[in-house]
Amino acid sequence: MPVEFPRNERAERVIARLEAQGYDACAVGGCVRDALLGRRPHDWDIGTSARPEETLRCFADCMVLETGIRHGTVTVVLEGEPIEVTTYRTETGYADGRHPDRVAFVRRLEDDLARRDFTINAMAWHPARGLTDRFGGREDLAAGRIRCVGDPARRFREDALRILRGLRFAAVCGFTVEPQTARAMREEQGGLRSVAAERVNAELSRLLTGSDAARVLREFADLLAGVLPEIAPMRGFAQNNPHHCWDVWEHTLHALQVSAPDSAVRWTLLFHDSGKPPTYREDEKGIGHFPGHPAVSERLADQAMRRLKFDTGTRERIDRLVKLHDIPAENDPRFVRRWLNRLGEGDFRRLLEVKRADTLAQAPAYRPPRLAMLDGLEATLESVLQQQDCFRLKDLAVNGRDLLAAGLPEGPAVGRTLRFLLDGVIDGRLPNKKEALLAALRESGPGRRGAE
Ligand code: ATP
Ligand code: MG
Repeated sequence: MPVEFPRNERAERVIARLEAQGYDACAVGGCVRDALLGRRPHDWDIGTSARPEETLRCFADCMVLETGIRHGTVTVVLEGEPIEVTTYRTETGYADGRHPDRVAFVRRLEDDLARRDFTINAMAWHPARGLTDRFGGREDLAAGRIRCVGDPARRFREDALRILRGLRFAAVCGFTVEPQTARAMREEQGGLRSVAAERVNAELSRLLTGSDAARVLREFADLLAGVLPEIAPMRGFAQNNPHHCWDVWEHTLHALQVSAPDSAVRWTLLFHDSGKPPTYREDEKGIGHFPGHPAVSERLADQAMRRLKFDTGTRERIDRLVKLHDIPAENDPRFVRRWLNRLGEGDFRRLLEVKRADTLAQAPAYRPPRLAMLDGLEATLESVLQQQDCFRLKDLAVNGRDLLAAGLPEGPAVGRTLRFLLDGVIDGRLPNKKEALLAALRESGPGRRGAE
């Protein structure tokens, strides 16, 4: 059956050049999957029977990068765009469950396809020959199914990261995991202990931002708790509180499901209520409360992110959003300016997104007034930004030099005074006008703020 396939001129040129020298070549892997799904592949990978040094000879007149050459990959730069050309290969050994002991270059495409993880990733496409699909990848794509190439348990023992890759594809593509593959994922999950934290982190982040993340987290919570033990206590933890209609884990999943697919927002929501189980208290009426849970959630989030080797900036950003997720919000320009000052626009918007998702996952009766308040708050945010209200030191109508000129002694007092004036402007007590600010300073007494 002919297959509709988007043409890619650069990929076809690379293939033609290799073939002209007598080698076999075609597009392989993720780009074939994405093209068949009607998604634009973010990069085209070319597989070839040419050995790396032979590939180099074919592209002697082009700019090439040899960074991956040990594994058979030569990156050819065509019109400023890189395209990876990888020699067909098999991998054997995997004594450590992550790295093949031996990579062997082979001449046959079929042998290369057999080492790939899932059927949907094990197809090749050639401009004249069309699709090569030895493992039923096309049928699995059509059925929305993640299935291993070959014996799933063996494939996961070779490289346990494939377990998380499979769940990531399920979440991103909205696919289900074929039962035998799912069973093997569970049986072989212990292998994830030996996978580098950074690789686990990267797959989890992509899983979380998938459109179907909540479904995959729900179905594979037991497995995922192996790499994220912080989620385990949330599962089935009843809240016994009229604001909530779901247990902590279901609430978390509902919030994730309705939130924007932003990695920091999704990680924040995953952890935002993780501090509820350890802080649970019941009052005399049997109603559940979670005093101080945001701080405990923050600690758990921080612990998980350190283990997963998040970069410091991302970890601190998510810690902060987790800690703040429950702060009382007000539809008031002063509130907006204060939080813009503390978080910056990007993270303030993320905080509002977290609050909206959190609200949408609460008991229906409590949602409308909170959502209306958040709508109003967002409108206020837009107007504060549009009017270019002052909320940063650099927007303030006076600077350090002005204060020195007004007689303030050099030293830490200058910074403190600027902060005092900025707070006055943010809170609407002072206008952001140079004369008015200097006058306010004089009124508060010469050098007084400096003396504090
Ligand atoms: P994306 O680029 O969107 O992450 P991808 O499937 O292209 O998805 P890559 O990491 O670019 O993922 O890998 C390209 C191809 O290499 C895959 O489609 C798959 O065929 C193969 N592959 C990648 N990682 C593995 C692995 N751990 N085990 C087996 N095959 C793999
Ligand atoms: Mg890819």
